[in-house]
Amino acid sequence: MKTAIRLTLCLLLVAMTCTRSMAQQAPPFTPMEKKHIRVATPGLFATDKHLYIHLDSLSEGEYCFPLPGGKVISPYGRGGGRHTGTDIKTRANDTIRCAFSGIVRMACVYGAYGNVIVVRHPSGLETIYSHNSKNLVGSGDVVKAGQAIGLTGRTGRATTEHLHFETRINGQHFNPNILFNMEKGTLRHECIRCTKNGNGIVVKPCATAPSAAAQ
Ligand SMILES: [Zn+2]
Repeated sequence: MKTAIRLTLCLLLVAMTCTRSMAQQAPPFTPMEKKHIRVATPGLFATDKHLYIHLDSLSEGEYCFPLPGGKVISPYGRGGGRHTGTDIKTRANDTIRCAFSGIVRMACVYGAYGNVIVVRHPSGLETIYSHNSKNLVGSGDVVKAGQAIGLTGRTGRATTEHLHFETRINGQHFNPNILFNMEKGTLRHECIRCTKNGNGIVVKPCATAPSAAAQ
């Protein structure tokens, strides 16, 4: 009898431990999501053609300029729109910081990007950090805003050590300057509206945030 009780307790403990570790686990990403930058985010825009990124409600510590003190050496859209991100420079092997909290979707070598990190944020926004000399995180890691995630380098197609920083929604890149004033290195405390329009997505600040409009 005693043995039966002990066995039941033991099984219960194992079950509880398993449940807890599953709850702590980051959502699994598909092989496609771990290996490619431009992938659609499952479920995004499934029920609404608008999606809002509430930069207006973020407080200190919930955001971070990805390369503090960095200077823009090449803006988004340069070369007839071919440049898919903003290049920021400080010095070699400087610390790259995660812009917002999220989960690392991808951290590997990817063609011209060299060592790259893609972080998916709860809003659906994704931020990309490329040409790194070293990635300090791996796919599935939970990361916080301001956390050191990599070191600047010139891996992939790069002529100097710098950070190529991209912002994407559902795989589509847009100007990071909509989220951060890239010259000043400060966050734009605004609500950003992403609207699905055919195969594309229009990203721009919205004058009135839906939550503010309801008040
Ligand atoms: Zn670049």
